[in-house]
Amino acid sequence: MRGEDRAHRLHGERRVECGVCFRRCRLAEGETGFCGARQARAGKVICANYGKLTALALDPIEKKPLAEFYPGNLILSAGSFGCNLRCPFCQNYEISMAGIPQRSGSGTWGRSVGAAGCAENGSAGPAAQENAGNAVGDAAGDAGQGAVVKSAAGDAGQGAVKEVFEEPAAMTVSPRQLAAQAAELAAKGNIGLAYTYNEPLVGWEFVRDCAGLIAEAGMKNVLVTNGTAGPEVLDRLLPLIDAVNIDLKGFTQEYYSWVGGSLDMVKETIIRASQLCHTEVTVLIVPGKNDDEEDMRRLAGWLSSVEKRAGKRVPLHVTRFFPRWRMKDQRATPVETVYGLAETAREYLPSVYTGNC
Ligand code: SF4
Repeated sequence: MRGEDRAHRLHGERRVECGVCFRRCRLAEGETGFCGARQARAGKVICANYGKLTALALDPIEKKPLAEFYPGNLILSAGSFGCNLRCPFCQNYEISMAGIPQRSGSGTWGRSVGAAGCAENGSAGPAAQENAGNAVGDAAGDAGQGAVVKSAAGDAGQGAVKEVFEEPAAMTVSPRQLAAQAAELAAKGNIGLAYTYNEPLVGWEFVRDCAGLIAEAGMKNVLVTNGTAGPEVLDRLLPLIDAVNIDLKGFTQEYYSWVGGSLDMVKETIIRASQLCHTEVTVLIVPGKNDDEEDMRRLAGWLSSVEKRAGKRVPLHVTRFFPRWRMKDQRATPVETVYGLAETAREYLPSVYTGNC
């Protein structure tokens, strides 16, 4: 992957380009990318959130959401900080944005972060190794309750977070320790490890390292993503992943421009994933933004073509927005809207679920 880090000069200053997602941040030494999770170090872009967990929970797999992948089972769910989108309605921002200064627009943030837990080429740094023993020791206590065991970020808004830390990444853990925790929790019904809560692909090296160990242990890897990483990252990760839920924010580029992403890139990710692993798709319906019936017809019709190409079902979750983050003053999506759009989608797809209703 080092080929992704292309060097540039801007006003005489050497910068290195991150190739993980569409933003292609060009970072001067010590600067952190838009996602808050990757940083320029010694002329390379490293994964600065490597092994830093902001949330860890043993969740019902239906919460990912995955409706048709080992239903009725639990999965250890880990999240860090960092996201490359800025959806103003983010339902999870206390976790995904933990410690990230906010600004509007796109581009490089130029923020420096501390050295602890940084990784290069996917290896945890010395501080990560030292601190790794503090990470997930309490996880078993609430096994089976679907509660977040610890969070560095704050209240997730779904009644889940039990402990709050002021600093992001209060827990640092190695892939081996997290995999061992997942295996230990098998006795309580855990089937594997889910990479979720923030955008896991901005820290893909940690996912890769954990996923290899989880697969070796005969357990399942689940990825919950916005689907906006480039093909190099997807090609590395998807063969290790058993199931994925991909957020399809809406079905117009106009909508994606609002949240800061590319519809075509997400569609490509869904096509690619559906051919390699069990894939489900989630669309969060925001009133007045992406609740158009015709858009749902186009979305569902397109997803039906993806199913045919993949030769398998790609279940769709139509979920309800609640007022959050920068859209705290908006009303929640009326349940009738969600049910109505789900009915429309069922004209095209065999598996459509509603969520948050
Ligand atoms: S992953 Fe982060 S640093 Fe890399 S291009 Fe995307 S936003 Fe920028």
